[in-house]
Parts: sequence; structure tokens; C-alpha cells
Amino acid sequence: MLQRVELESKCLNDYRPIVGDEVISDIERLAEPLQGARVVHVNATAFGGGVAEILQTLAPLMRDVGLNVEWQVIEGTDEFFNVTKSCHNGLQGMDIPFTSEMKDIWRQYNERNAAKFEGQYDFIIAHDPQTAGLLSYHGRGAEEHWAWRCHIDTSHPNPAYWDFFAPYITAYEAGIFTMEQYVGPSVSYDHLAIITPTIDPLSSKNELMTTEKTKEIVGGFGLDVQRPIITQVSRFDPWKDPLGVIDAYRIVKKQIPEVQLALVGSMAADDPEGWHYLDKTIRHAGEDDNIFILHNFHNVGAREVGAFQAFSDVVIQKSIREGFGLVVTEALWKGNPVVGGDVGGIPLQIIDGKTGFLVNSVEECGKKALY
Ligand code: UDP
Repeated sequence: MLQRVELESKCLNDYRPIVGDEVISDIERLAEPLQGARVVHVNATAFGGGVAEILQTLAPLMRDVGLNVEWQVIEGTDEFFNVTKSCHNGLQGMDIPFTSEMKDIWRQYNERNAAKFEGQYDFIIAHDPQTAGLLSYHGRGAEEHWAWRCHIDTSHPNPAYWDFFAPYITAYEAGIFTMEQYVGPSVSYDHLAIITPTIDPLSSKNELMTTEKTKEIVGGFGLDVQRPIITQVSRFDPWKDPLGVIDAYRIVKKQIPEVQLALVGSMAADDPEGWHYLDKTIRHAGEDDNIFILHNFHNVGAREVGAFQAFSDVVIQKSIREGFGLVVTEALWKGNPVVGGDVGGIPLQIIDGKTGFLVNSVEECGKKALY
């Protein structure tokens, strides 16, 4: 049996003052024919990263409108998650090898997880490359509908990875992608949906706090709240470019020597590469006492992340590839400007020159943050 994630209880009606009556009635109308439908979301981790963040709210809200929803998490060790991290990178276009040993590991774990996947469902939604083999190894029951939800940018994949994954992901009846161009070369579905992810405005990360409170939280990590602060909240990952953020901060520092930089990033359970990249980031920061690198061991939970996003003078999201970038929405929701890489889902969110800036280089990032 796979691990079942305990779902909080959430109520769609609580969101009415934010989204308005029309959105609520649209959701209720769409849910009407699905009353009692047995739905399961399957992904790789209950904690860390955007998918877990989305499911923590989406699954309870689907339940609230009458669907019978569960959330299961596949099993894996570092051996598997190292391979899936390469798959994530390769599918986003990184030029890295995909050896037959790596393919075997991916197949073995997907087969094992498929054997452990239990329950009777009408709809099974598998998220991201980690779970993509579930349908092929489990097989489709007569009444079952299977969908694959892709959260990453597969618009320019490395062909070695794409060719391997294509048969697995096209076996699904439905594909859900964040943007049309992510659907990837030569893939088609009976049902294709383009859905941008959303943040939960009522979660402890996004509920609006007083400035006093955010100041107290940020100050608690040793930052001087009287001086300017630049923040990036992200996993430690090459696509998030934390090294580039440090370089951009150094450009700002030439003009504003008292500026501080916070790099906030918890380690996701399915991202062993994160530790390696954290070390690299720490080395790049060197002896600069005004760079604060905060991760799990500093107890940066949801409220703390929210406080940094709200209190900072500038939020940066200098990604090189970005499926969507929930962190951008989170900061914008708090009314803060975001300087973001002009890639993937970020331009869907930032109104260039108005709510922030879209940038293509370290220099531009530094200049806009300074501005
Ligand atoms: N996040 C967090 N703590 C951290 C780093 C990230 O809670 O230290 C959250 C962040 O607030 C966001 C999600 O993880 O909700 C990351 O989603 P995003 O789409 O930005 O990137 P992904 O990690 O999925 O590539």
C-alpha cells in the first residue's frame, strides 16, 4: 500500500469573498455531475515544492464540493529520486545522459509502486515524471479514467528523455499541462487541458500578516529589518539559479552596500540534488554576512516563507526554466514587486514594469532590483 496523505478540511465557501460568487457557482456546477466520484491524486512527495503545495489545498476543496478524494504518495529511495531529478532536468531540456541503468531504476520503482497502488477509483491523476509509469505498470481497469498532470516545462525536452517518456505519458486518456507549448513534441491526448496552478490565499503562507508580525519573523532570523532586503524563495536547484541571484545582489550591493539577501529554500523529500546545490550556493556566497541562506534546519515553515515574501523590499525569482512558479504569485498576492526570469509561467504572472520586471540576465536582474 502506498502512503496516504491526511487531508485537512477546507471549505470552498470561505473563498467567496476573494474569488466572487461567479467562480464559486462555476465550480459547483462543474462538480455537480461528479458527486461521489472516487478520485485519487498520486505524486512523489507530501512536502516541499509546488505539487505538494497545490495538492494540500486542491484535494480538500475537491472533497468539499462532493468528490470522494484521496492523495497517495509513491515510494522511493535516493537511488530513484536521483534518477527522477535527472528526468525532471532532462525533460526541461538539460543536456545530460540517460543511461540504461537509470532507465532500469526508473522502471523498477514505477513497477513496484504500481504493484503497491491500491484502491478503487473512477479518476486517477498521476503528477509529474516520477509517477508517469503508474498506468503502464498497473494497467487500466474498465471503469477507470487516468490523467497525467505535468507541472514542468517540457517545451524543449532533451530527446533522450522525451523519447523514453512519450509512450508512458501518452498512454493516459487525459493530459493536463500549465501552458500550451509544454505539451511537447508529437504528443496528443483525447482530453487535453491547459490549467495554470493557483495558490491558496487562505493558507498560513498567504494569509496577510501585519507588518509588525512579518518584521518580527524576518528579524528573528538575524536580518536587520531597518535595512533593505532582497529575497528569493526556492528549492536549491540549478533552474532556480540561486548563484545568479547572488550575483544580481552583488550588483545592487555596489550602490547600496547595506542591502541584505535572503535565500529561503526547504529541501523537498524527492529532491536529493538539493543538498548538493545548497552546498554550491553556500560556497558562492562566501564570507558575506549579509547573505542569509535558510533551509529546513532553520525551521522555515509556511508562515516564515510568507513573512519573507511580504516583508522584503524586492522578491526575485530568477529562474532559467519554470513550469509556473507559485512563489511569484505568492509574493504578488502580498503586494510585493517581483523581478522574475522571463521564462515559462513567470510572464503569465508579472506585468512587466507594473507589478515587477521580467529579466533575461544577471545584470538586468541586478539593475531592476536596484530600481
Ligand atoms: N516553498 C516553501 N519553502 C521553501 C521553498 C519553497 O514552502 O523553503 C514553497 C513555495 O512557497 C511554493 C512551492 O514551495 O509554494 C514552490 O513552488 P514553485 O512552483 O515556485 O516551484 P517548484 O518547487 O514546484 O519548482
